[in-house]
Amino acid sequence: MNERTLFPLINKLARCHQLTEAEYAQLIRFRTPETAARLAALARTAREAVYGTEVYTRGLIEVSNFCRNDCYYCGIRRSNQNCDRYRLSDEDILACCAEGYRLGFRTFVLQGGEDGAFSVPRVCRLLRAIKSDYPDCAVTLSLGEMERADYQALYNAGADRYLLRHETADPDHYAALHPAALSFDHRIQCLRDLKDIGYQVGCGFLVGSPGQTPELLAKDLKFVEEFQPAMCGIGPFIPQQDTPLRDEAPGTAELTVYLLSILRLIQPNLLLPATTALGTIQPNGRELGLAAGANVVMPNLSPLSVRKKYALYDGKICTGEEGAQCVGCLQGRVASVGYTLVSSRGDIRTI
Ligand code: SAH
Repeated sequence: MNERTLFPLINKLARCHQLTEAEYAQLIRFRTPETAARLAALARTAREAVYGTEVYTRGLIEVSNFCRNDCYYCGIRRSNQNCDRYRLSDEDILACCAEGYRLGFRTFVLQGGEDGAFSVPRVCRLLRAIKSDYPDCAVTLSLGEMERADYQALYNAGADRYLLRHETADPDHYAALHPAALSFDHRIQCLRDLKDIGYQVGCGFLVGSPGQTPELLAKDLKFVEEFQPAMCGIGPFIPQQDTPLRDEAPGTAELTVYLLSILRLIQPNLLLPATTALGTIQPNGRELGLAAGANVVMPNLSPLSVRKKYALYDGKICTGEEGAQCVGCLQGRVASVGYTLVSSRGDIRTI
């Protein structure tokens, strides 16, 4: 197997937007710098056909690092005694939105651990406040798993989008990364409920999680191909020192970027973020991602005082600068690959 045998597969993917699981696994297992370059070039063409040279931006507000869950990879897991816990007040969050709006953000993402203090009525009130102050903005929630009625209530209160990474599409691998209290089936049910309700839904997965194989990644790609999300967030697994997976090897920027290109070809209009984790594992990781098919960045709008505390993994970048500095820095990074950061809601385009 070499790139000559993979090139027909790559052409088929670009033409048909789908492969079999076995073909996806081959494309990953036998990848070379040449197959990566070919995929990146096709992905760039595909993204430019839908989104031109625009890069969408979302202001990420990390509302709480309290979490009831105990995911083995995550630094804000319940059992981590070394995690310095915080939760933002509604006033804090509205102040982040005000600052973000001033900086040109037209999408706010409220993300956090599964924190009971962010009850559905409270988040509904918050949504109504944000939507009445900024009717031209989209609000994305990323608050973990809930029951359908709760997702419906939040949608009715104005939430436009929901990010819930499936983390892995393989039930056994899911069970290796999560305690038994967390159910793969429930997480997937959540994604289906969210889509059904009418949210623009983002799924996504870890790249290079311990024990992950090309065959497991092929399942993630097949899941995305079939689920047709609005967004798919992927980033390298990065060990966090206070978690059970502290000694495991991290995922790589190289494989993450490769998968971004494949995802772009699976669904040309997919919103694909060049994630903070990708920029953490390699200094120019986000630029490489943008140059290979990604079209979204999600700079941090959380108050500086809490930035370091939302420590999902070690070494997280962008925890020391003000929002304005982050935007300036990102504008430069985006421009360096020939693209432009735009101020808009950045909804998915229909093709
Ligand atoms: N509670 C919310 C938000 C989770 S944090 C939810 O359940 O969706 C957002 C994402 O960070 C997670 O979905 C996970 O994919 C990622 N993440 C957590 N720990 C990580 C680690 N050690 N390395 C890389 N990404 C990680």
